[in-house]
Amino acid sequence: MKNRCQSAYQKHLIQCINAQCEKTKQHVGQHKAVFANNRHSAGFTEVLKELTFALVVNKARDAYIRDLDENEYLDISMGFGVHLFGHSPGFIKAAIGEQLSSGIALGPLYEHSAEAAERICNMTGNDRCAFFNSGTEAVMVALRLARAATAKDKIVIFEGAYHGTHDSLLAMKQHPVSQEAIANVPGISPALVKDTVLLKFGTAESLQYIESHAQQIAAVLTEPVRSRHPEEVNPAYLKELGRVCREHNIAFILDEVITGFRVSNGGAKALYSLEPDMVTYGKILGGGLPIGVVAGKRKFVDFIDGGAWKYSDDSKPGSATFVAGTFCNHPLTMATAVATLKFLEENSGLQKELTDMTASFCACINTFCLSERIPVSVANFGSLFRFLIKGNHRLLYPALLKEKVYIWEGRNCFLSSAHGPEELSILEHRVKKCLIEMKASGFFPESKTVSYRDPDDWYLRAAITIDDTLDTDWLMLSFNYVCEQANVNRQYPLSYAMDSGDGPAATNNIHLSVKEEHGQTRLHLSAIKSAVDGWSLILMLRSMGKCYEALEKGRPLPGSVFDDRDKMNNWLGNIEVKSSIVKASEAFTLTEFLPASSYEQAPAATLFEYLLAKFACTLGIGEHHIGVPLSGQLAARLINSFGSYSCLIPIRITSANTDFPLADIKCQLKEGRKNFRHFYSLRGARRFSAVFNMDNLLHENSFAGRKARIVPLSDSHSNHPIVCNVIAEKEGLHVSLKYMTEIPEEDARNMLRTFCAEITSTAYVY
Ligand code: PMP
Repeated sequence: MKNRCQSAYQKHLIQCINAQCEKTKQHVGQHKAVFANNRHSAGFTEVLKELTFALVVNKARDAYIRDLDENEYLDISMGFGVHLFGHSPGFIKAAIGEQLSSGIALGPLYEHSAEAAERICNMTGNDRCAFFNSGTEAVMVALRLARAATAKDKIVIFEGAYHGTHDSLLAMKQHPVSQEAIANVPGISPALVKDTVLLKFGTAESLQYIESHAQQIAAVLTEPVRSRHPEEVNPAYLKELGRVCREHNIAFILDEVITGFRVSNGGAKALYSLEPDMVTYGKILGGGLPIGVVAGKRKFVDFIDGGAWKYSDDSKPGSATFVAGTFCNHPLTMATAVATLKFLEENSGLQKELTDMTASFCACINTFCLSERIPVSVANFGSLFRFLIKGNHRLLYPALLKEKVYIWEGRNCFLSSAHGPEELSILEHRVKKCLIEMKASGFFPESKTVSYRDPDDWYLRAAITIDDTLDTDWLMLSFNYVCEQANVNRQYPLSYAMDSGDGPAATNNIHLSVKEEHGQTRLHLSAIKSAVDGWSLILMLRSMGKCYEALEKGRPLPGSVFDDRDKMNNWLGNIEVKSSIVKASEAFTLTEFLPASSYEQAPAATLFEYLLAKFACTLGIGEHHIGVPLSGQLAARLINSFGSYSCLIPIRITSANTDFPLADIKCQLKEGRKNFRHFYSLRGARRFSAVFNMDNLLHENSFAGRKARIVPLSDSHSNHPIVCNVIAEKEGLHVSLKYMTEIPEEDARNMLRTFCAEITSTAYVY
């Protein structure tokens, strides 16, 4: 059953895409009545009805396409694998322009056709070839030639392969154990599939079947690697198929409509040293214009025209079948084919580079999925790749569309030479973002983190009160998403949960408790101290606000706000930190409130520096070491780092500077910041005479456009004898003094009284 977060995410996708593709949907809806196009209904399901349409574009260039709503998408469909050189490459445009100036006569041939044939045969190692208009047509003709040459009828194809839309190949198995095929769509006469045999690719049984039925089999037709299963590469099996076919007078046909010119200039045939009787090509070869090619051994291709008879001797055409087509050898296509072939000859390293790039993209996503425990992977064959996903994980495709990555409905993806390092990095980033969104929405329940916690660890807390009631589903999605972002690249991911109870249930590493009262919403966020600091808690709450706002407005969720973990770790120099977990001791707390009107701030100092100096004055004669918490995020200037990076910087107060040690304190704070890494490495190992902290709430806060108040809830665990915490707000200062049982109550009271008196006295002595 779908959980609430999954439904919320699905709703989010529909909202985003409806807004993003408004004009496309309007256009599609408006013209459906007259314009029939099955791509607008591909993969239809009731729930995703609003996401079912084919994108309508008005521009395509390099690796990008632009839709009617002016969205620019990174295209990884690249014309179903046609555009190996990106959209509208200059040399193709030039070839088309030149041919247009020579006209597009049909009937007579231009010289281009013969030149294209010579180049293809040269490049691919075939004897002869002929031109058609599509891959489907090429496959249809290849089968006709096979039947003509062998005088047999049956055709073997393999489950999960695709060879175009010729009737006899739109077949599926009738029965799990029988090899006979039936039509897999309405409208195909059973007679047209009765000679089609559907076998499993890669099995010995299939080879045996072919051998034992060789008398009836005219051809074995296979893709070198089925485009729907790029993970199943088996050249040894292809060789075996070739051998069996050779031994039994069966035409071995390699359908390289996708792989031809993509995996190498000679296609998979050259890559694996295969010797097929015929090969079909299409796609790339046409340079963007429609094409289909049948190439192969004379024995078969000669059935197109009766063979290469000569003039001025007694040779004549042999037996032939019949092929024809108004648009075969179309001058524009032939011109772009020649341009493509020339370009490939001159750039022979192109395919290898693309293959390497695709493989490294797949490896990167696969490593990410493995470390995030996301059950998705990507497989490639050459520069063709495919996400291997199941069931409701298919929501990844609309998620990617929302992130402006275009993948067509058949889901085969392709890189082109227009996809450079920048495009790869964009793609990687967007794919990861979508996977994290889906993980946060509960689509990969098996990836859920199990809670781990040191028994001595404790929770750090922060709360935010928002002047409005909020949508709980959007809130939960925001919270989950921010937690997932925070978990990326963590060796020990933090478990998290949200509830609408009164307080944090101490089972998860991060906990969000939501409470609504009198039209206000209070979010109470707590997280284990060893992994999350106060700075990070506030960062989380702020990020949640941004996510919530995006969800509410039907806009894509923002990318991760958190800095890459490695950045902070590198800055810290991978310091080995002594345990920061300190057993808490029993303590009492005194509080006081100083209205804003009762004090003035010293000039040339921050409020914090000023209050710290005042606090130092209250400690009395002698030498004192005050621990002052400092955020690593500030010291490293990596303010968006999520983690536990705060530590106490020591401020030494001696009798000599107790008067009003502001200048000295400023100096020491500066030094402390400079030596942050040293103090960080000693984290938790030192006991100070006192700790002084201030949380500044002077700036107005908001959450998704609503007024909000963020309150850090003071860290009550420590073993320092005195902890003074000040929360600075517009209305004044909330001072609290926590003291341990070893300090007499009277002393603590005196100290708080003196501190408050110090603050409210206006005399500054420097
Ligand atoms: N064979 C294969 C392996 C294909 O992938 C395709 C189409 N993608 C075809 C044949 C049919 O080609 P077309 O769409 O040009 O008819």
